[in-house]
Amino acid sequence: MNVALDLDGTLVDLVGAVNRLTHEEQLDMRLSYNDWASWDMPSILGITYEEFNTLLDRAWKKYYLSMEPLEPRLCEGIKILKEAGHKVIILSNRNIGTHFEALKWLENHKIDYDSVTLNHSGPSKLEYPIDILIDDNPNLVRDMYEYPKKLLYLRDQYWNQDVICPRNVIRVKTVLEACKNISTSKF
Ligand SMILES: [Mg+2]
Repeated sequence: MNVALDLDGTLVDLVGAVNRLTHEEQLDMRLSYNDWASWDMPSILGITYEEFNTLLDRAWKKYYLSMEPLEPRLCEGIKILKEAGHKVIILSNRNIGTHFEALKWLENHKIDYDSVTLNHSGPSKLEYPIDILIDDNPNLVRDMYEYPKKLLYLRDQYWNQDVICPRNVIRVKTVLEACKNISTSKF
């Protein structure tokens, strides 16, 4: 199976880095984890989508060497997938301004992927030739009705608590939990 993993909010604690940015720089906001209860953060913050993306990019550029993985055993999870014969694809929506930082982060954290796709304004992640996606984006859940043969593991986050999951969406607390589940499932 082709198993794709998202980066921001799934492997990487980008929120922690953005919070840090708002405390260390002279910005109009000071964020903490409790502020991230919605996917629609631009509306919550009263800024445009572009301004929000600029904030994320700035956090990546400033902190990519110190940004933490969201969980300590990521490498173990990916190893489990590969040993079970799956192909591991990193699939991340981002503009070209943070490609270097993203690739460096993957290298520094020894994420053993087979291929990486950094998609800016291209197709939905679900249109790629993948069988399984591990992601934190709640908007992907409703799209899953159109892809009944694909499986989404929704990585639990503050901002995806309200979605109701159809049969092909499995909520998991960690990426490791998803990897273990995939490796023991009969597809
Ligand atoms: Mg994400």
